[in-house]
Amino acid sequence: MRFLIPALVVCVFVSACDGPFGLFADEEEKEQAVMKVTKNEDVLKAEENQETLTITVESEGAFAEDVTEDMGAIVEEPEENTEETQPLEPEEPPKATNIDKLSVENGESVSLDPNWEYASFSKINSGTAVFYKAPGENRCGIRVGINAGHGTKGGTEVKTYCHPDMTPKVTGGTTAAGSIEAVAVSGGMSFKDGTSEASMTLKLARLIRDKLLEAGYDVLMLRDGDDVQLDNVARTVICNNVADCHVSIHFDGDGLDYDKGCFYISVPDGIKGMPPVDRTYHMSDELGAQIVKALGNNGCKISGNGSMAIDLTQTSYSTIPSVDVEFGNQCTDLSDEHLNALAEGTVNGIEAFYNVSN
Ligand SMILES: [Zn+2]
Repeated sequence: MRFLIPALVVCVFVSACDGPFGLFADEEEKEQAVMKVTKNEDVLKAEENQETLTITVESEGAFAEDVTEDMGAIVEEPEENTEETQPLEPEEPPKATNIDKLSVENGESVSLDPNWEYASFSKINSGTAVFYKAPGENRCGIRVGINAGHGTKGGTEVKTYCHPDMTPKVTGGTTAAGSIEAVAVSGGMSFKDGTSEASMTLKLARLIRDKLLEAGYDVLMLRDGDDVQLDNVARTVICNNVADCHVSIHFDGDGLDYDKGCFYISVPDGIKGMPPVDRTYHMSDELGAQIVKALGNNGCKISGNGSMAIDLTQTSYSTIPSVDVEFGNQCTDLSDEHLNALAEGTVNGIEAFYNVSN
């Protein structure tokens, strides 16, 4: 704990910048593979019908998207398709969160809906997240929100409430315990070679995205470029309404001269009784524990017992399993090989979470 505080102070004063690793060599290829949704008349008609149709199937998680995929057929033969949803009764409990999720298409940009719960607490929300649908036959219908930490210009100039009930923070961190408000998005730290945390979190997030898509998971990228005008509250609320879980990617600025390893931010006892954390903390901690365990199994160094309890804005507004993972610190090896191991471990952990929790 005492290592983290000076580091997070550093976080506050270092501005995010675009590092040298913003794009992958295969990024262009990836973007070409993602078909942007053209909202022609047929699609718009389909969307009008979609809401009615998905009401009956959305709670069935993984199956809801399959029904909405074939929109042409739904528009032309709505009755027949409605009947065809009947055999989709799941034979086992759904793996996705069972609340209604926004219907989204592959490549679609997702904005913050001001009507969503807690949306009014956001101050920076003109940007959009991007949804990627798993392309393979192994698609499971689970949507993972991947949040590349930092990367919001102007994020340190605005403050948001730490908690939706406006109570003060119960632990220290980037923001001191007792604070009612925190910076909307902190700038992030710098690695010892000067690389910005924001550029590396994006690079790692894209690696994780690609591996999740390959493993059959849909991915919501909360930040899909060097900058996104979405504060931590907006990113969390979008995740709540579009994704089934939320994993944010960070590196700790702790001031050490060696890599202490990976850990997740666990939920401090002081906010476990606060809505909506009271409903999610056990799942959030389980998600973090599974990711860190899998990182360790994949050869990545783990810091101490693998967790540190900190009162985060992300946790406080999450209505779904939600965790901040710190993938090392300013001394962490930034080679492709190591980042690949981190991404692989993360995906293994997410897979383990869904296998044991459902
Ligand atoms: Zn960070």
